[in-house]
Amino acid sequence: MKRIPSIAEMKAACRQITRSGKTLGFVPTMGALHEGHLSLVRAAKARCDVTAVSIFVNPLQFGPTEDLAKYPRTLERDCALLEELGVDLVFVPTVRGMYGTTQVSVQTKDAKLGHTHTGPTLSTTEVDKGGAPAAERKTQDGIEKTYVLVEGLSDRLDGASRPGHFRGVATVVAKLFEIVRADCAFFGQKDAAQVAVLRKMVRDLDMDVEIVVCPIVREKDGLAMSSRNVYLSPEQRQQALVLHRALMRVQMMADQGERDVAKLAEIGKQVIAEEPGARLDYFAIVDADTLDPIADVRRGALVAVAAYFGTTRLIDNILLT
Ligand code: AMP
Repeated sequence: MKRIPSIAEMKAACRQITRSGKTLGFVPTMGALHEGHLSLVRAAKARCDVTAVSIFVNPLQFGPTEDLAKYPRTLERDCALLEELGVDLVFVPTVRGMYGTTQVSVQTKDAKLGHTHTGPTLSTTEVDKGGAPAAERKTQDGIEKTYVLVEGLSDRLDGASRPGHFRGVATVVAKLFEIVRADCAFFGQKDAAQVAVLRKMVRDLDMDVEIVVCPIVREKDGLAMSSRNVYLSPEQRQQALVLHRALMRVQMMADQGERDVAKLAEIGKQVIAEEPGARLDYFAIVDADTLDPIADVRRGALVAVAAYFGTTRLIDNILLT
């Protein structure tokens, strides 16, 4: 397995693979790998000749009060897991390599809410060897950059609670797609809104990559696996089971013939309210592609929930068919 920090080297390695006629599968991650990530890697390996994984904690998708600095970073362990699975390339870029600076701005539509992050762990020795970092131009207000914004979708669900989040996601994924130019890219259904945003980005920008979505991997008791689960105290870990419980209750009511979205959402919210340790962010039943509200679930729906347990924000969802 080759570990590559430089954009130029990663491009060269990926082009060599695709030019040789082999198919390339790509799994973007932020590291702190768990079985959910590994399921994407297995899917990529089953589908493509060569597999590339990226590990990059993307500051551009974290809000000013979010957990960028404390996000778990377990690079050596992650690489050992990927090597064991037979991954061919691991791309581990630096913040400076990706953005030309460690001052990455998370801005909302209202520029006044803009905020500047300082990259957490960058030292000069981390700067890419194989290629110049992305160009930066200093302005009075900060640094001018190029962003990818999927309008509309980016303001729904997690995008409503985390302004600027999906602009950060779309921008980094567009960059990674251009660097890797994979045939297929693998994402988890766990981040359902992210899937909707990225599918639209690929459609709207005519990107030549197939998005493959893999099912949510859960712990035995139903909790969706997440790198953020390590933040939970044992008590919060128990409380967090309410997310899956609420989704299962809605699934059951829908299976029994309840079609009305307002009633189903009310049931889900009630289940969450019964857990005093949970602070609901949203409970939404929407169209899975457009994330638009729907009136009934006759033609399928995404049931999505986000809630805080202490300061840890967790998400989960199910698809009603
Ligand atoms: P992250 O490292 O959190 O950015 O996640 C990288 C990829 O892994 C994303 O496509 C996620 O949707 C996916 N993922 C995270 N958790 C799970 C899970 N429990 N089951 C399936 N995929 C997951």
